[in-house]
Amino acid sequence: MRPARPSWAVDELADLHDMAWDFLSVEVSARSEQWARNQCVERDFWLRAGELGLICASIPEKYGGGGGNFLHHAAISSAYARTGDRSWGNAVHSGVVAHYLLSYGTDEQKERWLPLMATGEAIAAIGLSEPSAGSDLKALRTTAIRDGDEYVINGSKTFITNGSSADLVVVAAKTDPAAGARGVSLLLVDATTPGFSRGRVLDKIGQHGADTSELHFDNARVPVSSLLGAEGRGFHQIMAQLPQERLIIGITAVGAIELAVDATIRHTKEREAFGAPLFDLQNTRFQLAESATYARVAREFLDNCVIRHVREGLDDATAAMCKWWLTQVQCDVIDSCLQLFGGYGYMREYPIARLYADARAQRIYGGANEIQKELIARSL
Ligand SMILES: Cc1cc2nc3c(=O)[nH]c(=O)nc-3n(C[C@H](O)[C@H](O)[C@H](O)COP(=O)(O)OP(=O)(O)OC[C@H]3O[C@@H](n4cnc5c(N)ncnc54)[C@H](O)[C@@H]3O)c2cc1C
Repeated sequence: MRPARPSWAVDELADLHDMAWDFLSVEVSARSEQWARNQCVERDFWLRAGELGLICASIPEKYGGGGGNFLHHAAISSAYARTGDRSWGNAVHSGVVAHYLLSYGTDEQKERWLPLMATGEAIAAIGLSEPSAGSDLKALRTTAIRDGDEYVINGSKTFITNGSSADLVVVAAKTDPAAGARGVSLLLVDATTPGFSRGRVLDKIGQHGADTSELHFDNARVPVSSLLGAEGRGFHQIMAQLPQERLIIGITAVGAIELAVDATIRHTKEREAFGAPLFDLQNTRFQLAESATYARVAREFLDNCVIRHVREGLDDATAAMCKWWLTQVQCDVIDSCLQLFGGYGYMREYPIARLYADARAQRIYGGANEIQKELIARSL
């Protein structure tokens, strides 16, 4: 059954949401096990999604995108979130990297990459995190040192979504290692660049179908035209893009919360204990009443943030609230729902078990939730 649409998804956004759901729900149920086994979503799926306009929906048509705004991306993301699958790296590809290109790219960079990204012919990743620098991005060690008309990149990245399949990686590196945050720049690295290589696809406790990889740069030379925006502006650019990334994480959280609550209501009405459905026990009723309340409040807050983001741009503190609170509620509600499944909730063949394992990373990536609270506190 099609899930309810977000309140802002009316007219063409409603059609887009429903079309995305009709495609994604069928494909996810057919392919998610295979994605989990392969730790990756195959190119063929990206190409099909591109044909249907599900990639780069919020990128202008002149660059091959759907010509919509953030609501178009959010309509697709909301439908995908309700499938419960976390394999497809479209959030990073369309919601994050495409917007770095759109915001800071030269016409040449946009014309080269965005049309390929919109069809799914090129898959994109963003490499910020390193083995020794995650939350503290100023401490990153990857360098991009200018040598004539080229930058020479050295260093390693880890935990990179779409890492093993990416054709394009936006890489944060120090172009001036002595300048701290002011020495960070962003570079576009074509995955065919000599000296660029991929390490392991990492074995995670959840989100098994998502390709999360290590990347290495060993004297990888890129032309100076690969610089994305101005030299030394990388840290500022990352901070400016993070509210949208955090909002997208919130969309995933709310989809998962709603899915968990619906699945648990169904299960507890069907399963009997002590001669009656589990649903009739007062504890079950109270737990589900609480979870349904969280789901409703989370949805209202999220939809408000989505609309604010489109109208005026989401401020850092509200984006941080959206990210930490929705992902915490996601973990709490899913944990409470899983309990009501008993032993079945611990079995991977039950979607609630996967929702539980997949949820945990949400409190870590996009800036750990503790970092979000620091950001909020700074605004108080
Ligand atoms: C599935 C997955 C996908 C990811 N995808 C990407 C990607 O595509 N690109 C990318 O660049 N990165 C990606 N990441 C990395 C992610 O952004 C980092 O893991 C995250 O920023 C935390 O960095 P860290 O792992 O180095 O933890 P650390 O920085 O070592 O922090 C560990 C913990 O310490 C605490 N902490 C840290 N700083 C503070 C503070 N100031 N105050 C209070 N507590 C603090 C927090 O609890 C934090 O979780 C991904 C991670 C995962 C798990």
